[in-house]
Amino acid sequence: MLRVSERVICKDSTKKRVDQTLVKIIGWSGVRCYSYERHEDYIEAGLQSTHHAAKCPYCGRRSSHLHSRYERTVEDLPVHGLRVILRVEVSRYRCMNPKCSHRTFVEQCAGVTEKYQRRTVDQRRQLQEILGLVASTVGSRQCASMGIDISSSTALRIVRRIHCEIDYNSYRHLCIDDFATRKGREYRALIIDADTHLPLEIVPSRDKADVAKALRKYKHATIISRDRSSAYAGAIKLACPKAKQIADKFHLVKNCGEHLDKQLRVSMPDVMSELSATLDRPVESGVRQEAMYKPPASRDIDLFAEIHKLKDAGLSNESIGKDMRISAKTVAKYLSMDRPRGRKITESKCVGRYIDIIQEGITSGLGYKAIREKIIAAGGYVDYGALCDGMKKVFPEYHPKQGYGGKTTSPLSVAQKERAQTRQLLGSNMMKIYVTNPSFGVKKDTGECTKERERADMLICKSGILQDLRQAYTSFRDVMSGGKPDELNAWIEKYSGSQYQHIASFAKELNKDITAIKNAIRYSISNGPMEGCNNKVKAVKRSMYGRAKDDLLLIKITLYSRKHMHVN
Ligand SMILES: [Zn+2]
Repeated sequence: MLRVSERVICKDSTKKRVDQTLVKIIGWSGVRCYSYERHEDYIEAGLQSTHHAAKCPYCGRRSSHLHSRYERTVEDLPVHGLRVILRVEVSRYRCMNPKCSHRTFVEQCAGVTEKYQRRTVDQRRQLQEILGLVASTVGSRQCASMGIDISSSTALRIVRRIHCEIDYNSYRHLCIDDFATRKGREYRALIIDADTHLPLEIVPSRDKADVAKALRKYKHATIISRDRSSAYAGAIKLACPKAKQIADKFHLVKNCGEHLDKQLRVSMPDVMSELSATLDRPVESGVRQEAMYKPPASRDIDLFAEIHKLKDAGLSNESIGKDMRISAKTVAKYLSMDRPRGRKITESKCVGRYIDIIQEGITSGLGYKAIREKIIAAGGYVDYGALCDGMKKVFPEYHPKQGYGGKTTSPLSVAQKERAQTRQLLGSNMMKIYVTNPSFGVKKDTGECTKERERADMLICKSGILQDLRQAYTSFRDVMSGGKPDELNAWIEKYSGSQYQHIASFAKELNKDITAIKNAIRYSISNGPMEGCNNKVKAVKRSMYGRAKDDLLLIKITLYSRKHMHVN
C-alpha cells in the first residue's frame, strides 16, 4: 500500500500517471489516478487531487497555502461483485482569512469525497436509493450480495441522512388525514400536497393544537382538504384562517349511506308490512326470549366493581375507559348492569323468534332440517347452520339421532323457497347495497341481472319506503358530484323535515359544516390522493416494524412516492 510521507508534495514524480480512461468514463474531475491493483477480493485504486487551491468551506475564500497532505480511504461502487477501495490523496490548506473561524481546512474532491464520509457520493446515492425502499435488515443483505458490506444499523443511518427539503411557502393545496401507528391507541396526522401527492409532514398526533402548529408553516395554503373531523376543522381555522376548507366528498357520501343503513333497520317492519302481499304473510314475531348470560368470570366481577367505584368517584365514562384501557362503550355496558354477569349468550334470532315451532318440532321428534322446513313453511326464514348452532345452545339436551335426525316432513314447494329467499334478502345487509346502488349485480357489458338483483328491484318497486330512501341517497350523491353548491341547500331543506329520522338528522348535521361541504362540491380537490398515500404509509410502516420513528417513516414514504426528491 502506498503511504504518503511528509515530503511528498503535489507534483510527486514517483506517482506515475496510469491510464486515465476509467477516471474520464466515471466522470470524476479534479483527480488523477496513479495506481490500480487487483487483490483477492477487492480492487484498490490510488487517486490524487490535481487542484493546487481550494475554497474554504467555512468562509468561502480560496486558499493555495498548502498545510499538509494525507490519504483518505473511501469505498466506491463495486465492480463485478468486487469491492472498490479508493486511496485518495487530499490536501489540507491554511485559510488566510483572519476573520474565519477555522485555521485550516481540507479540500473535497467533487464526486469522490465528502466530509466525514467513507464512501463515494455515487455509492451513498445508490445505497440511499436501495435502502429507502426496503427494511434495513433486508437492505443490508441485499447490499452484501452486491459487494457492499454494511450492517443494518448503518443502513438506517444512511437512510436518515436523506434530507427531504420542504419549501413551505410553495404549497397552495393541501390534504390532511390520519393513520394509526397503533390502532385504537396512537394516531398521526399526515399532510400531503394535493397537487403532486407528495407527503410533506407527519404530525405527532391528530390533536387540534399539534395539527395547527404544523399547518402554521404553510402560510400560502389556499385550499385544505380534510375528512369530517372537527379537530382538523378547528386546527385549519386556527392556523390558516384564510384557507378554504374542503370536507371530503367520499366520506360525506359514505356517511349518507351509513345513515340510510340505520334508517333501513328502523323502517324494516314497515317495509315488511308494505310488502306483506308479496311475502304472503308477515314474519311471526314469536316469543322473544329474555337474554341469557354466562356466569361471570373473576375478571368480569373485578371490572364491574372497579368501574362502579370509579363512576361513584365522579369520573366520566371516557376517563374511566382511558384509565382501565377499555372503550367507553364497554364502561357503559358495565354501568348498565345491576350485578356482574358473564358474556351474553348470543341470542340466536331464529331460535328466539320461532321458539314455539321449534319446541313443537322437538316434542314430535323432528330433526334440524324438518324443523327448519316447518319454520319456512310458516312464513319465516332461518339459515340451517344458524338454527343448529342456536338450538345447541338453547336446547343442549336435544340430540337428533341419525343424519338430519328424527322424522322429516314433506319438502318445501318452489313458491315457499322463493318466499324464504325474499325474506332472507330483506333481512340481510345486502339490501342496503341494492337500495343505494342500482347497478350492483348488473353485468356491465350485457346488462344481465343476477337473480338477487331482480328480486331486490321487485321489492324496491313495491315499497314506497325503499323508493324514498333510494331517492334520498342518489339525489345526495348527484348533488355532491353535480358541481352546483346551491343545490345542497335545497336537498337539506327537503330532507331535514323528512319523516325518516336518520336521514333528517344527517341533513341537519350537514348544516354544521356547510361551507366546507359546498367547497367540496365547488372544487375538484378531495382526500382521494390521501387515501392512496395512507396505503403507502401502511405498507412502509409494516416493512419497518419496530424501528419506525416518524422522521424515518416520512423519508421512506417520500422515497416511495418518488417525486421531487432532493437527496443531499
Ligand atoms: Zn476560512
